[in-house]
Amino acid sequence: MKDIYASLGISPEIYDFGEAVLASLRERFDAIDATAEYNQAKVLLAMQKNRVSGACFATSTGYGYNDLGRETLETVYAGCFHTEAALVRPQITCGTHALALALGAVLRPGDELLSPVGAPYDTLEEVIGIRPSPGSLAEFGVTYRQVDLTAEGDFDYDAIRAAIGPRTKLVTIQRSKGYATRPSFSVEAIGQLIAFCKSVKPDVLCMVDNCYGEFVQRIEPSDVGADMTVGSLIKNPGGGLAAAGGYICGTAACVEACARRLTAPGLGKEVGANLGQLPAMYQGFFLAPTVTAGALKGAIFAANIYERLGFACVPGASEPRRDIIQAVTLGSAERMEAFCLGIQAAAPVDSFVTPVPWPMPGYDSDVIMAAGAFVQGSSIELSADGPIRPPYAVYFQGGLTWYHAKTGILMSLQKLYERGLVDLKRIKI
Ligand SMILES: *Cc1c(COP(=O)(O)O)cnc(C)c1O
Repeated sequence: MKDIYASLGISPEIYDFGEAVLASLRERFDAIDATAEYNQAKVLLAMQKNRVSGACFATSTGYGYNDLGRETLETVYAGCFHTEAALVRPQITCGTHALALALGAVLRPGDELLSPVGAPYDTLEEVIGIRPSPGSLAEFGVTYRQVDLTAEGDFDYDAIRAAIGPRTKLVTIQRSKGYATRPSFSVEAIGQLIAFCKSVKPDVLCMVDNCYGEFVQRIEPSDVGADMTVGSLIKNPGGGLAAAGGYICGTAACVEACARRLTAPGLGKEVGANLGQLPAMYQGFFLAPTVTAGALKGAIFAANIYERLGFACVPGASEPRRDIIQAVTLGSAERMEAFCLGIQAAAPVDSFVTPVPWPMPGYDSDVIMAAGAFVQGSSIELSADGPIRPPYAVYFQGGLTWYHAKTGILMSLQKLYERGLVDLKRIKI
């Protein structure tokens, strides 16, 4: 084993360190496997109940009327998320688009949007108009209010109660931390927050940005009262196979509003050619529980490696997991670049390129991204990225298989080690 890793460029001392760390993680990996087993059964059940058949894999073109495969896939998602309806489309271009769609579908001029969990994901700033942007919700007269988490990272219930007013139409809750160093939320905690918001204002709608959270637990935000649960198919639920797309699972009324926003009033869900994408969308969803489990193991492995080297990790090495993202605070741009170089060098695609920081649309500082993915930008595949700004944290996620995630983490450490940016003598196992 050491020889094959050496052929990949991982030196024996790095490999041995990795094995020593792994020996301490067996129980946690068993628990992840049990969650994957449960979720595999959940997906299988939804596919069987909704009578997925070979006829569902046919390509549709043009308007895409009477598309059995598209309609069945949406019932499979709804079945798995336990919602009345779902919109699952390759025409939803990414997670930001899915979230913008959901917001735009239900908010009207004069309404207010509330985020009770602090600032939303960077790309939503322009969608909402926190950073002025043509076409933002702000331009359409939708106002935004935010309640930050307490210093301890908890929901600030008093401030949330005070922030919910007669114009509050929608509450948006981001499950995963994104590019922040706050904790990600458990589905149970999200459920409590939703229940609280609805106790203050019974008709308020609650949307959850579920990006990176799917299949990490046995339940989803839709099981605890979310009216819309939203995510990207090039993250967990696409299982690495979906070439593009997004989903919104929710109440029939919300999903209908989203469909009308995606296509047009009067057309709604009835149109939208599948363009041959359905087999990969079905198969990816089927594989998603095990792919997510592999990514979770990688995240835990990374935290256990880097914490032992003295770097702050969110979540911490022994903390429970709420999503597949692992933040590692490396403290310098130099270390971020070395880490990302390692992830890139471990990739099956584009392993020979060097990631460099660059301005990215939707982000307000340079971002470095490492990804050698089969699907462009797919972050259920092994990837690392982060904005080049203090505290210089990289966000590591994905891995289509646990073994590949492991290789990537070892390679990131190898690059830091070769450049003298880590002190292996600090290792405590
Ligand atoms: C990735 C992500 C998004 C945006 O998804 P894109 O597909 O990159 O547009 C939104 N919210 C969170 C929490 C995310 O992780």
